[in-house]
Amino acid sequence: MDLHTIGIDVGGTKTAYGLFNGQRGIVRRLSHPSDDTASPEEFFDTIAGNIKGLMAAEGLQNEDIRGVGIGMPSFVLFEEGRLIKTSNLTKIHDFPARAYLMEKLGGMRVLIDNDSHTGAMAEHRHGAGRGFDNMIYCPISTGISSGIIINGKLFRGRYGWSGESGHMIVTPDDGVECGCGNRGCLMSWCSGSMIVKHIEQWIAQGEASIMPGLAGDGKITMFHLGSAYNAGDALARRAYDQMVKYLGIWIYNLYVTLNINCFVFGGGLLKLSRQLMDGGKKTTILEDMKEIFDGYNKNDMPVYFKAAELGDDFGIIGAAELLF
Ligand SMILES: [Zn+2]
Repeated sequence: MDLHTIGIDVGGTKTAYGLFNGQRGIVRRLSHPSDDTASPEEFFDTIAGNIKGLMAAEGLQNEDIRGVGIGMPSFVLFEEGRLIKTSNLTKIHDFPARAYLMEKLGGMRVLIDNDSHTGAMAEHRHGAGRGFDNMIYCPISTGISSGIIINGKLFRGRYGWSGESGHMIVTPDDGVECGCGNRGCLMSWCSGSMIVKHIEQWIAQGEASIMPGLAGDGKITMFHLGSAYNAGDALARRAYDQMVKYLGIWIYNLYVTLNINCFVFGGGLLKLSRQLMDGGKKTTILEDMKEIFDGYNKNDMPVYFKAAELGDDFGIIGAAELLF
């Protein structure tokens, strides 16, 4: 039987849906802004309503659906499908989302996982990680995370939050406080939102830069960093060098811990890399990270730094892959 699947990618700003046919092809899409004011019940009522709408549009009944997979920017107690904490959607915490949604959908199968896990499954099965038994997917945007594939399978760990390696502490008690409440997390030195905080601090201390001028009345963003870098701005270059240094160290730490040699990078980092190449830079961010990595790595076995291949659809594809 050609069972359909539904993959849902919940982001801090947008929720995207894909309805897939039995050959795993996308037959219908939907997206809407993620409502950060909604209670968990309201949030998942919206999702349940949209699932029913997608099914109705294709004339599908519950028995035509293999299940619903959802990737969330959350700490997820996987087996139970309970959301512990969600970045950017702070009202969604301590909520039994899986049980709630299954009841709303008449017992339909629902699986919920962290979005770097679903991203890892998508890139491993259909993207840049194809053919590798072991790989780590590394999304780098406002935050930093990882999804670990070992022996062809996603490794979730005991509670379900394996791969939260952006929170590994590299400089105890030093640096900008991270969203997790600690100081000295890896991502506090190199994530998109944190690098901007460093830039703001340097400027407040009197460092010169064209970035405030580029931002005008708004906040400095990674796009401004890219433009300033291309214009030769010294502070933008300092921020870039700091970011690349800590990202290279992070990958080295993952490599010496797990000896996984395929790293697939996704997220806003790739956009920044393209912006810099368009501005005339000769090496990609991944190449610059690899150079830092190689400086620490004392053997010459091959290690691959690859760009994610699935584009914007990786979220809905990975969420649907939970069902297989
Ligand atoms: Zn942290």
